[in-house]
Amino acid sequence: MIEQRVYQLIAGQRAEAVLRRHDQVVLGNYARFPLLIRRGKGCYVWDEEGRRYLDFAQGIAVNALGHCHEAIVKAIQDQMGRLMHVSNLFYHEGQALLAERIVGLLGAGRVFFCNSGAEANEALIKLARRFGAESGRYHIITAHGSFHGRTMATLSATGQEKVKVGFYPLLPEFTHVPWNDWRAVESAVRRETVAILIEGIQGEGGVNVATPEFLTHVRRICDERNLLLLWDGVQCGMFRTGRFQSYERILEGRDVGFSPDAVAMAKSLGGGFPVGAVWVRDPLSQLMGPGSHGTTYGGNPLACAAALATFEVIQAERLDENIRVRGEALKSSLLDLRDKYPGQISDVRGYGGLLGIELKECNARGKVMQLIGMGLLTAAAGEKVVRLLPPLNVSEEECDQALQILSRSFA
Ligand SMILES: *Cc1c(COP(=O)(O)O)cnc(C)c1O
Repeated sequence: MIEQRVYQLIAGQRAEAVLRRHDQVVLGNYARFPLLIRRGKGCYVWDEEGRRYLDFAQGIAVNALGHCHEAIVKAIQDQMGRLMHVSNLFYHEGQALLAERIVGLLGAGRVFFCNSGAEANEALIKLARRFGAESGRYHIITAHGSFHGRTMATLSATGQEKVKVGFYPLLPEFTHVPWNDWRAVESAVRRETVAILIEGIQGEGGVNVATPEFLTHVRRICDERNLLLLWDGVQCGMFRTGRFQSYERILEGRDVGFSPDAVAMAKSLGGGFPVGAVWVRDPLSQLMGPGSHGTTYGGNPLACAAALATFEVIQAERLDENIRVRGEALKSSLLDLRDKYPGQISDVRGYGGLLGIELKECNARGKVMQLIGMGLLTAAAGEKVVRLLPPLNVSEEECDQALQILSRSFA
């Protein structure tokens, strides 16, 4: 429901009327901020009154190239006039082109297309079940603070109690272990264990970055016990950290040859258009033969066109480099802010376009609200962390502007 005070501060009269009508008929399952957004371009959105906001939330790490990037708009428009949907009973060229891009970046394997992050993780869980079927294994280990989606299986996989309340009984055979604690992972492995599912950076959980030691030990444990290492790259993937997948960034400069067995993707993959994907390494991919899984919309021509355009722009304009440089600069300025306001900021962490400012007090939502009033959109992650999710093509000026607003808010 609407917080009255800020609501009046932010929304204009027409917006107020729309918000009220909205809340009469739309399910109240989101704690929305009272901002009626009318249009967006690049790093900015405009509300009903024509007020401009610098958008460092970008649809929760979805708009990889900002709002309404010409290349994505054109790709969707062109595709829309040609072919919008054919189902997976037939072929169209887009899936092949998009899967080639993904295989080119992740290695020999096959790609399954779906429509969201939860669906991608759902496919990872089904892959693990198939993998363990013959040996009677089905138990999956995930981390405290993880977030894997809101379907019943991905909810069960998620290591946060708050999203599960009222939905028991869940899917059994998930164990959550403390984040970055590979010894706890090792202790949780039992005869029935078949997979370990982790994010490289826990986005929803508070921008908690995996340590290189954790990743290398988890890979070792999987190798020794014949377990699948399932990677949830839904939020931290698609070049957000400066590399395609966050393990490449986290393990940079170490000669460890780390690779997961399967990777879930969504969010930034479609640059704003809903699309999810799962890469499964060969020959493991052979497990998912005809009839093993499916979704009607998955990999439809529009989604593929949007994702392909997103890849093309990122790679042609070296936006992986851009977000790496911008992110490093932003992070170091935020660390200065932390030093200046140690009573308010306890930590700054993350990489590239996935940064977290941890507050001393549990009022991330209040902070996000204050920032909206000052013209900056961000996203809370848990009770204490304010997340910055700029687009990969964010400019130095836009970062400076965000910093100025943040400094003023802490001052
Ligand atoms: C957002 C998110 C999901 C769920 O994606 P949806 O598209 O909302 O279903 C899963 N895993 C991670 C890491 C996410 O950030």
